[in-house]
Amino acid sequence: MLPSFETAQKIFAEFEINLTETEYAAFLTYAEFMVEYNKKVNLTAITEPHDILVKHFLDSVIPLTYIEFEPGFTLLDIGTGAGFPGVPMAIMHPELSLTLMDANGKKITFLTELCEKLRDTIPLNVKIVKGRAEDCARGELRAAFDIVTARAVAPLSQLAEYAMPYAKIGGTFLALKGASESYEQGAAMVEELGGDLADFVEYNLSGGDLRRLFIIEKIDITPKKYPRSNAQITARKAPRR
Ligand code: SAH
Repeated sequence: MLPSFETAQKIFAEFEINLTETEYAAFLTYAEFMVEYNKKVNLTAITEPHDILVKHFLDSVIPLTYIEFEPGFTLLDIGTGAGFPGVPMAIMHPELSLTLMDANGKKITFLTELCEKLRDTIPLNVKIVKGRAEDCARGELRAAFDIVTARAVAPLSQLAEYAMPYAKIGGTFLALKGASESYEQGAAMVEELGGDLADFVEYNLSGGDLRRLFIIEKIDITPKKYPRSNAQITARKAPRR
């Protein structure tokens, strides 16, 4: 259900990521469980072993190679779906304190079962939250995370409003994007929410797909009126000051 350990090691090494046998074993468990579960619940269109390794696992773990973090850092993955990028990040860095968030109950059930299985191999430190990002940001989760991540959830201008309230000041929002988005599309909103583009990286995944990573630092508190309601967030209006 995955390319061999040696092949996987080589592919990860292209990005200077050292893959251990234990991590590989966890990824194997993950791939098998996800593909089996995918037969009854729609989790992913990517089911071919090499693609799972590259487009899900490798794609998820590359972003952390671009930032500095410490053991015990808290990481929130918004709209994690079948666990991307949060779960692969935690497989490679189980010392992170991971929170997975998704609005979809079926994905939450999958994630709960997945994390239970993975714990046989890796001591994951994970909490799972069912809810919409814009509905969960007013309580104890606000400004509680060192790192906030999201992949394939919404355009940057909306995604920033989901993500920024959760980041601590000095924390980082990692927006994992494809070739179709530029920072300019979300820049005004990111800044309004207290963010600043610290770095922008572009790379090709093994096999060629272009990826853009926006590394956004939270330099100021997010104004209390954010996040607004989902209807307002998706209305594409410029923020009112
Ligand atoms: N991040 C995963 C899943 C992407 S699909 C990946 O890259 O493979 C988008 C996921 O985001 C879905 O599971 C959906 O339920 C969730 N989602 C969309 N909007 C959301 C919101 N506002 N709050 C929480 N989850 C959301």
